Amino acid sequence: MDLETYAERAQSGPCFVCALLAGNPDYPHEVVFEDAEHIAFLDRWPTLPGKVLVAPKVHVEHVVRDLDEAAYIRLLLFVRQITLAVEAVF
Ligand SMILES: [Zn+2]
Repeated sequence: MDLETYAERAQSGPCFVCALLAGNPDYPHEVVFEDAEHIAFLDRWPTLPGKVLVAPKVHVEHVVRDLDEAAYIRLLLFVRQITLAVEAVF
């Protein structure tokens, strides 16, 4: 991983989650699961085997502040579902 390029892209490029959702070929990720509101995908540069990133499909800058309480709870339930699945595999 080229940290300098990554930092530059993160600061000046599009949101990588939105780019992934839009099918931008510059932001490929292996999607492992999704529902109507959330997506789970493998980290391109995992620090641990099976590291999965989870995100809401709506763009948010701050996941706690930008989601209302009900949406945040649904996200946590999605994280739980993914966590149990990853744990079953590993
Ligand atoms: Zn976004």
